[in-house]
Amino acid sequence: MIVLFDSHCHFDFDVFDADRESVWQTCNQRGIGYLIIPAVAQQQWQVASEIANAHNNIYMAVGLHPWWIEKSLAADNIESYLRIVEQDLQRHIFQTKCVAIGECGLDALVETPMQLQQQVLDLHLKSAQENSRPLIIHCRKAHNELSTQLKNYSLPQGGVIHGFSGSYEIAMRYWAMGFRLGIGGTITYERANKTREAVKKLPLEALLLETDAPDMPIQGKQGQRNSPDAIVDIAQTLAQLRNVSLEKIATQTTANSKLLFKITS
Ligand SMILES: [Zn+2]
Repeated sequence: MIVLFDSHCHFDFDVFDADRESVWQTCNQRGIGYLIIPAVAQQQWQVASEIANAHNNIYMAVGLHPWWIEKSLAADNIESYLRIVEQDLQRHIFQTKCVAIGECGLDALVETPMQLQQQVLDLHLKSAQENSRPLIIHCRKAHNELSTQLKNYSLPQGGVIHGFSGSYEIAMRYWAMGFRLGIGGTITYERANKTREAVKKLPLEALLLETDAPDMPIQGKQGQRNSPDAIVDIAQTLAQLRNVSLEKIATQTTANSKLLFKITS
């Protein structure tokens, strides 16, 4: 029996409120044994924590995602805002079943100023360094800015660049810095040529599987709510692209996630 690990699923979002239990049961029946909820903002940390605590093998992480950074801050409020985020983070990172810091990162396609995003990300990187925790990172169109910022810290626990899409070269740069790549529904789209070519060649030890549900539906399911059970299709696509068995993909990627997030059960 294969065991798959969804390393990135927003299972705490309201869209799962009505049928979360049955979705998770279906997942278990289809071989999805583990799931991480990377909570995106303070108000979700408690929600994610309660879901994780109520289920075997569901874990969570705490972070402030760039989309959830307060956009309307006046310049003189930024300092106090950052202080609150830092204190909240400090209080939550070692709660039960919290295995990482994130989701946090940089996104050049949103209106929140890049400088403010970088300040918020700095809090997460500092905390990861001081508390020896892995990171779950979101990055859109800001790979240079992100690499530069990561280099300012000593992060032996590394982390994952989630929802990776990009070239082999960019992926290998992150792998060399101790970061794995989160591989999701993107690879099911034939037009995602560059990413599909990259995942054929990358070391299998560098890859984690993820759905990013409810976002990022796989090919053929556009416009529908994505579900963590799509991890099976993503694993199958990766197996086809690399010309190896589904078992091999499942065994290695689940081991990679367990190693990164120090999950021993
Ligand atoms: Zn996400």
